[in-house]
Amino acid sequence: MSDKLNQAVNSASNTAQAGDSRSTWTLVGRTLAAVAGVAVAHAGPGITALRPVRASLFPQLSGIAEADSGPADTAPSVAGAAADGAVRARSGHVALTFDDGPDPVATPLFLDLLRERGVHATFFLLGTQVSKHPRLAADIADAGHEIGVHGWRHRYLPLRGPIATYDDLAAAKEIITATSGATPWLYRPPYGVLSTAGLVAARRLRLMPVLWSAWGKEWAPGSTPASVHATLSDGLAAGSTVLLHDSDCTSPQGSWRSALGALPLLLDECERRAFTVGPLGEHGPRWHQPTA
Ligand SMILES: [Zn+2]
Repeated sequence: MSDKLNQAVNSASNTAQAGDSRSTWTLVGRTLAAVAGVAVAHAGPGITALRPVRASLFPQLSGIAEADSGPADTAPSVAGAAADGAVRARSGHVALTFDDGPDPVATPLFLDLLRERGVHATFFLLGTQVSKHPRLAADIADAGHEIGVHGWRHRYLPLRGPIATYDDLAAAKEIITATSGATPWLYRPPYGVLSTAGLVAARRLRLMPVLWSAWGKEWAPGSTPASVHATLSDGLAAGSTVLLHDSDCTSPQGSWRSALGALPLLLDECERRAFTVGPLGEHGPRWHQPTA
C-alpha cells in the first residue's frame, strides 16, 4: 500500500474508533433529534425497514425514481420520436446497487461481468472493507461506477448514539474519498434501518439516504441464482432500485455467488422489459448531491 493510502486508512480508522468510545445517547442526541425536522424521524427508527410502508410514504428514500411528468416531458415537440424516447428511457430506469463490499474475491468478478455487459452500478462500500482492500475501491471508481457510503462498521443504527453515528459515516466517507478519488453523495444504512442520528449525520455530510425497492435476498439459506432472480423480479418495475451484495462479510459465506449468478438473468430481464440499468446518479433529475 502506498504511504498516502496508508495515511488515509489510518486517519479514517482513528475517526471511526474515536466515535465508538463516545457512543452514548446523550442530551446532545435528543437535541439533535428534536431539530432533525425529517418526517422519518417522527415515524420512529425502524419503520424505514418496512418496504411497503416506506415505498408509499418515502418513494425517493426507497430508491424509486420519480415518474416523468409535466409539460416539458409530455407536450408534443418537433423532436417527436427522440423526445419521446428520452422520456421513456428515463422513466424506465432501474438503479443497480451493491452493498457490503469491496470483497477481494467477489468484487472483481462483479466488475468483470458489469464491464462485459456495459452496465454501471452504485457500490455502497463499508469503511472496514475499504481499509482492508483500498485498491479495490479505486478499481470500482476507475471502472466508472458510482460509490456510496454504507458506513464504517455494519451496525444497526438505532443502537448507536449520535456522535458514534456521525463519526462512523464521516470516517467511511473520508476513506472512500481518499482511496477512490470519488466524492460519495449517497448513503445506505446497514440493514436498511435509519435513525434520527443517521439522518442528521447524513445531512451534515451532504449524503442522500437511499434504501431499495427490490432485493434478491441472496443471503437467505438455500438461495440460488434462480431464487434470487425470482425474488428480485417480484419488486422490479420502472424506476426501481435493486439491491444485491458483492460481499459476504455480513452474510453466509459465498452467498454473493447467487447474486453473481442472478445478475445476467436480471440484466436480460431488464433488456426484455426495455428498462435502462445504471447507477442511482442516472435515476432522474432529483438524484444528485444534496445542497448544504
Ligand atoms: Zn449491508
